[in-house]
Amino acid sequence: MLIDQQLVAGEGVAEAIVNPATGELLCEVAEASPEQLQRAVSAASRAFAGWSRTTPAERGRLLLKLADVIEGKAEDFARLESLNCGKPLAPVLHEELPAIVDCLRYFAGAARALTAPVAGEYQAGFTSMIRRDPIGVVGAIVPWNYPLMMAVWKLAPALAAGNTVVLKPSEQTPLSALLLASLAADLLPKGVLNVVCGRGTSVGQQMLEHPHVRMVALTGDLSTGRKVLQAAAGSLKRTHMELGGKAPVLVFDDADLEAVVAGIRSAGYYNAGQDCTAACRVYAGPKVYERLVADLSSAIASLKMGVPQDEGIELGPLISDRQRNRVASFVERAQMQGHMEVTTGGKLRHGPGFFYEPTVIAGARQEDEIVQREVFGPVVSITRFTHTEQVIDWANDSDYGLASSVWTQDVGRAMAVSRQLQYGCTWVNAHGLFVNEMPHGGMKFSGYGKDMSVLSLEDYTVARHVMVRLS
Ligand code: NAD
Repeated sequence: MLIDQQLVAGEGVAEAIVNPATGELLCEVAEASPEQLQRAVSAASRAFAGWSRTTPAERGRLLLKLADVIEGKAEDFARLESLNCGKPLAPVLHEELPAIVDCLRYFAGAARALTAPVAGEYQAGFTSMIRRDPIGVVGAIVPWNYPLMMAVWKLAPALAAGNTVVLKPSEQTPLSALLLASLAADLLPKGVLNVVCGRGTSVGQQMLEHPHVRMVALTGDLSTGRKVLQAAAGSLKRTHMELGGKAPVLVFDDADLEAVVAGIRSAGYYNAGQDCTAACRVYAGPKVYERLVADLSSAIASLKMGVPQDEGIELGPLISDRQRNRVASFVERAQMQGHMEVTTGGKLRHGPGFFYEPTVIAGARQEDEIVQREVFGPVVSITRFTHTEQVIDWANDSDYGLASSVWTQDVGRAMAVSRQLQYGCTWVNAHGLFVNEMPHGGMKFSGYGKDMSVLSLEDYTVARHVMVRLS
């Protein structure tokens, strides 16, 4: 771990780190003891005064260096991430890593270009101005599905804005964060970034209760979000919540079906569907429903599942046996309903590793569990709709509000429908694309606060009014 610029081993309980593709033990990582967490927060608190006074350009230069170092070690990061999460190697190396490096580069520049209302004399004899100042120590708590990317989505804007950070990766996937820690140790000033490992209920909870952690940024499950909010209330921390999702995909009768099938094949099953924006809840118009079920099912049956390091693999295992059982039980319960049909997949693969076949479930109804709850696995449901108002109502009839997509060749309809969707993001004739310049974040139970974009710099700073008497 990285505490006050020292690389140290955890002194707490050891956590088994498992290779999801084989089920074998990779290594053990001991979590931070309460004293070590305390040291990490104290180091971040001490470092804050100096770091927050550096200029945005100085901070930007260090973030650019960190980006270069990560880029130089991209293969090592990709291999670790692939090993620890079961992700196919090529997409981690060619898609995740470049996006992670670009995120650091984006915030290195963006922090120099914040805007605000102009300073002026709004009361005669006084000049008023807005400042955007850092908040203090930010506790960043991240999940297992994109360990390094979620970490960087938080630490890049937080550090660029002048905060110091204590990062806690998921207890299941700490390896890429530990490599990042070892590189940052030589680059960033003492205490500016600290990385502590451990479980949510021990190390995470302690971070939430620590009075010197001024803000907590979480990407995780809705139930975790609730616990974090309750614990953060004690010391009235700022919170930033990126929780789950259940993305609706609205396919109108005039959509380009080949593009729809290709889009869902990619965005519904990327990372084995363990993605909060996964294109998992498809609604198809009456004229395209049958064809979409047939074409999507055969496209999904062609997905290449296997050991992540093998060439051409599109789908790896799920993160754990527990997660696989959870996914399997969703599919079993759907099958038991009688009106739904598993048109492809629906089985776990026996043998080593936590593999579950990519699955399509046709005939789902709006009230079905498979339509309402987040599965977080390679399972897509398809529901037939009859008219536009109905599908908009159904799309919005969800606790979640993170991502959505609309597929139609009618630009007017695309815009009218997009406007009515209660989701943090709507893609038109696409799904699952991210750019660092644009915000990512949810509505409703998907949380609040934005990752990426200049809006996340606003989340990691506080607007202050300074008013100066002129005479
Ligand atoms: P999780 O909530 O179990 O864990 C996330 C992190 O929170 C981990 O680091 C964990 O140790 C920590 N944690 C757990 N309980 C805690 C507690 N009581 N106090 C403090 N910290 C605690 O989530 P997960 O299973 O790792 O990830 C999957 C979930 O994350 C899914 O629900 C998914 O939708 C969500 N997710 C959301 C986004 C988004 O941007 N909205 C992105 C990725 C994942």
